[in-house]
Amino acid sequence: MKNFFIYTRREDPQDAVVASHKLMIRAGLIEKLGSGLYNILPLGFRVIKKIEQIVREEMNAIGSLEFQLPVLVPAELWKKSGRWSVMGKEMFRLKDRHENDLVLGPTHEETFTELVKGFVKSYKELPLTVYQIHTKFRDEIRPRFGVIRSREFIMKDAYSFHLDWQSLDETYQAMRKAYRKIFARVGLETIPVEADTGSMGGSDSEEFMVPSQIGEEILLLNEDYSYKSNQEKTPVIYPDLIEEEIQPPKEVIREIYTPNAKTIEELASFLKKEPKDLLKTLLYKVVLQDESEKLIMILIRGDRQINEAKLKNYFKAIEVFPAKEEDFYRIGSVPGFAGPLNLKEEITILYDLSSATRKTWITGANKKDYHIENFHPVIIDKDWRNKLVDVALAKEGDPSPNGKGTLKESRGIEVGHIFKLGDKYTKSMEFTILDKNQNRIFPIMGCYGIGINRTMATIIEQNHDEKGIIWPISVAPFEIVLVDITKNEEEKVKVEKIYQKLEGKFDLLWDNRDLRPGVKFNDAELIGFPIRITIGKNYFENQEIEIYVRKTDKKIFVKEEDLISTIQKIREELYNLLPQVEV
Ligand code: ATP
Ligand code: MG
Repeated sequence: MKNFFIYTRREDPQDAVVASHKLMIRAGLIEKLGSGLYNILPLGFRVIKKIEQIVREEMNAIGSLEFQLPVLVPAELWKKSGRWSVMGKEMFRLKDRHENDLVLGPTHEETFTELVKGFVKSYKELPLTVYQIHTKFRDEIRPRFGVIRSREFIMKDAYSFHLDWQSLDETYQAMRKAYRKIFARVGLETIPVEADTGSMGGSDSEEFMVPSQIGEEILLLNEDYSYKSNQEKTPVIYPDLIEEEIQPPKEVIREIYTPNAKTIEELASFLKKEPKDLLKTLLYKVVLQDESEKLIMILIRGDRQINEAKLKNYFKAIEVFPAKEEDFYRIGSVPGFAGPLNLKEEITILYDLSSATRKTWITGANKKDYHIENFHPVIIDKDWRNKLVDVALAKEGDPSPNGKGTLKESRGIEVGHIFKLGDKYTKSMEFTILDKNQNRIFPIMGCYGIGINRTMATIIEQNHDEKGIIWPISVAPFEIVLVDITKNEEEKVKVEKIYQKLEGKFDLLWDNRDLRPGVKFNDAELIGFPIRITIGKNYFENQEIEIYVRKTDKKIFVKEEDLISTIQKIREELYNLLPQVEV
């Protein structure tokens, strides 16, 4: 350790709010360089390399082939795929000295598609799965939680190419199994959940989630886990949906005076009703593929929130966001009292599925301090039922979409993502091959990512205590730390003899620093070595060596001749404690 790069800290860094970030800095695994940028220090680097190696072994085991592509990508490829204009500010762009546009790759569908296109000409060469473990750049709006969301990070990204959907599904299932193995091997418990396929236009997609309080993703799971989905993607099931035809309400539409009742809650309490008795009218701005902006109105039940991911998908939009006050006035409406009737301008109206749960509604009058009652979408559009869409956010307590039980909410960190892409990239980038009948077809693709640094941080989220990190043995920077507590040179030499016996047999680091025992023990616990061997007074007086296991908090004493066999046994036990894979 004297010759290693060990710089631990007692204090949490000021900008760290989550355990993994604090511990990674305090244990000296990483160091901040700038917003969303981290230097990886030797201890952290060893963890990264071990995770990468596990990923590599499992990728190779399913026949995926490792490449390494430039991080810099000519903009032409992104223009060809159409994503140059879709990616927005998250993509780092730059110009070279000849004024050529370049991209710092946030992901590599384009480059791999172009590369494979240059070689693969016939159906006989498919299926093909390629991958790399390399640096990615994303100018995240809010880099945070250390390396969990940073602007430069390492990703394993794999891409597969197929003749048909069945072949894609075979690789997709193999990837799914490989992912389960990878995450179990690095010591992580993950839940694969159904994920939103977004504007990428694919079909199946799953995210591998690590359950965690600090997770940015909201998961909806039913009691027996037969349904697991990202909230973004979860359909809303309404037990009170009215299936039969709805007639326009018999009573005429009437204005009601609702002074200052701007929010659904204020209105509900003023009228002594429930939010679910009211129809909320929302205005949204949608940025379409051609970068034009469109103002739209959504009618949704008062107790429901908008799911912006669903809205975005519905319009295949680049971006969606709530409209501003002036947009309300422009169409002859009033914020807080908006409704679908008597507008100055015609506007696209979306009827959320929830609008079919009542036969009559109260909604905004487009007039300050007024709402209207006896309204129903059928009044303004006879065909409304065929236009119903689900753009609401599912929530805890909703019926499970698979018909089994109700949904519960929990939080997760996304560590991996698998995705059936279809022909989006092969089509846009004009990659065709000849099939058996000599017809030109567009191969279909899958893509599969794992965040390496995020995985490292997440392992710490799941494996730590108040003293520090508790590394799963498979990814610890070193499996063993040998701490010596010696009083003189003669004792040091004795320890060195033992160190030399262990070195080469085990992945170990010798804490030969001239520091107080307490400091050495604290560092060993903070850094989180799975096994600690202590050679001190007990050894010099009674020939007993102490072995302490961080995870089980158990201490034993062994004679020198039993040291190696005992460590071997403990190692094995620690490997057996890793999550078991049921695939
Ligand atoms: P998120 O929703 O968290 O932004 P994403 O959907 O953008 O993730 P993908 O494009 O699917 O992520 O990338 C594959 C993997 O790369 C993710 O599962 C995650 O582990 C990792 N990853 C993505 N963005 C970052 C980041 N900013 N910092 C660290 N890892 C990241
Ligand atoms: Mg992202």
